[in-house]
Amino acid sequence: MSDCLFCKIIAGEIPSKKVYEDDLCYAFYDINPQAPTHFLVVPKEHMQSVSAVTDGNAPVVGHIFAVIARLAGELGFGEAGYRVVSNIGEAGQQTVPHLHFHVLAGRDMTWPPG
Ligand code: 5GP
Ligand code: ZN
Repeated sequence: MSDCLFCKIIAGEIPSKKVYEDDLCYAFYDINPQAPTHFLVVPKEHMQSVSAVTDGNAPVVGHIFAVIARLAGELGFGEAGYRVVSNIGEAGQQTVPHLHFHVLAGRDMTWPPG
């Protein structure tokens, strides 16, 4: 989508600090980190949010979770634990309408979330 911030980041039109990339997804550090490690994993195909996931495009979401699990091990926080968050829509406080999963690690998380 031409006017989507994360589509522009995926295309390299806006610079980002890459964590990982393959044919289906792109992972990059959040510009405003909320934990010592905070990166986002996004599908390369534009979809608005979890609410746009269907049986047809669900495989990319499963792939993203496999990537997150692998990166957690490789980056050294898999054993300590971490949090994966996806904000959806207005009440969910989603600010960028391209599906993304926040991966937060490196501190003890609190519950309930704000
Ligand atoms: P949301 O609020 O939609 O769940 O998450 C969007 C995230 O994107 C926020 O955590 C915000 O800091 C991050 N973000 C917004 N603009 C940019 C940007 O230009 N570059 C990077 N790396 N992150 C961004
Ligand atoms: Zn997009």
